Amino acid sequence: MAQNRSATDQMEKIVSLCKRRGFIFQSSEIYGGLNGCWDYGPLGTELKRNLKDFWWRRMVYERDDVVGMDGSILMNRQVWIASGHEATFSDPMVDCRICKARLRADQLDEKNGRKQCPVCGGFDLTEPRAFNLMFKTYVGATEDESALTYLRPETAQAIFVQFKNILDVSRKRLPFGIAQIGKAFRNEINPRNFTFRSREFEQMELEYFCWPDQGLELLEYWLKERLKFYSDVGITSGLHVHKIPPEECAHYSKGTYDIEFEFPFGIQELEGVAYRTDYDLTQHQSASGKSLEYFDEESKKRFIPHVVEPSAGVDRTALAVICAAYDEEKVPDEKGNFEMRTVLRLHPRIAPIKCGIFPLLKNNKLLVARAREIYEQLRPYMMVFYDESGAIGRRYRRQDEAGTPFGVTVDFDTIGENDPANVETVTVRERDSMKQQRIAISELKPYLMEKIR
Ligand code: ATP
Repeated sequence: MAQNRSATDQMEKIVSLCKRRGFIFQSSEIYGGLNGCWDYGPLGTELKRNLKDFWWRRMVYERDDVVGMDGSILMNRQVWIASGHEATFSDPMVDCRICKARLRADQLDEKNGRKQCPVCGGFDLTEPRAFNLMFKTYVGATEDESALTYLRPETAQAIFVQFKNILDVSRKRLPFGIAQIGKAFRNEINPRNFTFRSREFEQMELEYFCWPDQGLELLEYWLKERLKFYSDVGITSGLHVHKIPPEECAHYSKGTYDIEFEFPFGIQELEGVAYRTDYDLTQHQSASGKSLEYFDEESKKRFIPHVVEPSAGVDRTALAVICAAYDEEKVPDEKGNFEMRTVLRLHPRIAPIKCGIFPLLKNNKLLVARAREIYEQLRPYMMVFYDESGAIGRRYRRQDEAGTPFGVTVDFDTIGENDPANVETVTVRERDSMKQQRIAISELKPYLMEKIR
């Protein structure tokens, strides 16, 4: 897709901020990297944890009808045969005969009715061929067909194959769901747009099992729930819902929505919400020969449940919240001169660092000691960051770029050297408005806890 200059600039700024501040690095960077793989640095790791924790809280802790699981990445190859992945989890690929680029057939632009190579502009392309996206590996000492399996390309299949065990131990009645967060691997042909399309990534998936006549209604329900999740992590604009036309849905799906976001590089999928009928459990029941049916005590009915699946990517959500939060604005410095401030307006609940703690001067023992005490008081409850180096304005700016929503400054009022009314109070600076207010130290923890939950 053609991108305009300002969108490319915006993306470059975001990538550069992510590296500079330790959100995201290229994997194996000192060896030239590995295409499609990324490492999360200190801030990125916190951001991802916060997103996953919030998803888990919404999906599992705050509901009576969902339980969690944590499946293995390597599974019996039969799982991937039964699910259809071995035969069909592929993208149609073409090769450019001129520059030898390998390209996804469904992503090529056309010129005068002919598909064109985006790399060299040529038109001499091979016929599309299927390219399986699963990474192969071997389990055990021999590298032959009998030992072959795959790194999972999605987390969902572990949920389907454990459906019966989890049903038995959790004793849930329909409708109920099983949630899972974990790594997935796809040998994407064109990993691109930073972490958006990676070869190793994390998914947050829920399989919500139900009666056949509940499926369509639950599809709408989960779409709404998931949209609320995105706004609750700070994506309050730029979301789109794309209803997949029936002819483009998977043959077993009775309805699919893509939740999309306006990334600088275009409107792209964040999550799929699909009503998958009883397809997955039926496939595994017939392939394994084990019953995956549900027995309803009341009606004495025995049947294979239907399922609605909201399937989200952690990395895509992290990238979306960073893109949504990135901002630059002109603000006056201490001398009244205007300067550009880069600020990540991350929602406090997902911000990596919740609060910066700053003694006004680093060479004043009392200020430093009191600031460190506050730091120690808060750190069991949230990620706080102590910083005493440089002018206070510079310290604020560093935290603005890191997306830290609050900054606490211990000044001479705090230690009783100015207005006696202000003893044992600190200033709390709010990142977005840059407004400051005085708060009693004893009130600080409840004040912050309320804002970050
Ligand atoms: P796409 O069409 O973008 O390849 P998909 O429709 O194949 O995505 P699903 O199989 O529905 O994706 O996977 C569910 C979610 O997992 C996606 O919405 C996305 O958030 C995430 N995801 C899938 N593939 C990748 C990838 N290569 N890199 C990062 N996240 C991914």
